[in-house]
Amino acid sequence: MSSIETLSLDRRRLVQGSATLGGLSLLGLGGCATGPGAIRALSNQATVGPAARDAVPVLAPVRASADRIFDVTVCLRPFRAAGPRLDTEQVGDALVVHNYGHGGSGWSLSWGSSTIAARKAMAGSPGEVAVVGCGALGLTSAILAQRAGAQVTIYAREHLPETRSARATGTWTPDSRIALAGATAPGFAALWEEMARTSFKTYRQYLGLPGHPVEWIDRYLVSNVAPGEARARHRAEYHTAGALDFAQYGDRIRDLTPRWESVAPGSTPFADPYVQRSESMMFNIADYGHILMNDFLVAGGRIERREFHAPAELALLKEKVVINCPGYGARALWKDESIVPVRGQIAWLIPQPEVGYGVIYKDVAVLPRRDGIVVQAIEGGDMKGYNDANETIDRAEAERAVAVISDLYSRFGKPIPG
Ligand SMILES: Cc1cc2nc3c(=O)[nH]c(=O)nc-3n(C[C@H](O)[C@H](O)[C@H](O)COP(=O)(O)OP(=O)(O)OC[C@H]3O[C@@H](n4cnc5c(N)ncnc54)[C@H](O)[C@@H]3O)c2cc1C
Repeated sequence: MSSIETLSLDRRRLVQGSATLGGLSLLGLGGCATGPGAIRALSNQATVGPAARDAVPVLAPVRASADRIFDVTVCLRPFRAAGPRLDTEQVGDALVVHNYGHGGSGWSLSWGSSTIAARKAMAGSPGEVAVVGCGALGLTSAILAQRAGAQVTIYAREHLPETRSARATGTWTPDSRIALAGATAPGFAALWEEMARTSFKTYRQYLGLPGHPVEWIDRYLVSNVAPGEARARHRAEYHTAGALDFAQYGDRIRDLTPRWESVAPGSTPFADPYVQRSESMMFNIADYGHILMNDFLVAGGRIERREFHAPAELALLKEKVVINCPGYGARALWKDESIVPVRGQIAWLIPQPEVGYGVIYKDVAVLPRRDGIVVQAIEGGDMKGYNDANETIDRAEAERAVAVISDLYSRFGKPIPG
């Protein structure tokens, strides 16, 4: 796969030393990309940093076993080859500002994308604004329109805890399945960079708060295969699988996040010979979502449960400016068949507050969310789940992923075999 929905940016550096390249998208469990382009870029970049530049902290083991899976969730990434839809359209006497189609990057890009949408919505200084949708994009759009002076009502079929956004991995993966290379409008890469930088800066405001809505964590990429061999395998797999060429923009914001570095053998409890480490921003969506909802309501926002069946219904709202954030729902509501579903599943292990780091091992990614340990199979890279709208839980896949992690920890703390 390509990367964890969190580390899509670092996927290239990861690949350098990764034996489980299929798991690179892990870095963006939400939907990273790992295509031939990425491999080329990788091969041009030095990745291996000074061995164990920093001391490795004490690492508690993840208690991975099938009987500790307390939930399995599935959601669909709203992918558009051309990237998110951000244009405006007149529906009756209502101005509709679109803000949907963010693939595996919806949380990561939310503040940046919604800044653009709110700016368009507020151009005529409306007193009232409606927002369709209460996911990552709807809530951030609503808060930003509110801050710009509007009275805002969110209309949504589901509130945040029930939305697909609530079932995301929760990592910084701003270019995870965000577009296809060559399918975007001129200038999209620069627009993406603007969105990513705005979001990154805004997330700064949520660090260090009670409940840890957003935090930085270490992530380890563990492998028993040498990086060069892994790279070759990955390249071969990717070409033979007929994978699409997902756009990758991480190089544009390389200054924002640390690189992956090799860690000296034996300096961590992992018993596999190749270990790399980086750091990543993690969103504890349960707590962070509460903060967003509370901030919106405390500032006088209203949330009304409502389902729309056709665009014309938006013109019947009392608000004459509407920010449209239905996510994958746009396919039905707007008859927008440019949206392709990309299925993703998470197995949730009982939370372990003592585990404060993430791991990627053999195409399985683990993230230490406060509301549960996220375990996600990521083989197949960005193509995993592509054009699959099935939201049925696959318990067998969940147990397989947990078994891989269980195997890793069965050797934890033991000497590396000579
Ligand atoms: C497994 C997985 C992991 C992911 N991990 C990450 C990650 O780590 N980082 C990251 O940045 N991104 C990640 N993503 C992507 C991210 O979850 C999505 O991009 C994001 O949730 C999209 O948010 P949204 O607000 O557009 O849509 P949604 O969350 O789907 O919200 C849509 C809203 O619109 C409402 N709605 C839809 N249709 C109608 C209608 N007809 N009438 C009324 N209301 C309607 C819904 O009820 C809902 O309130 C992941 C995705 C998946 C599937």
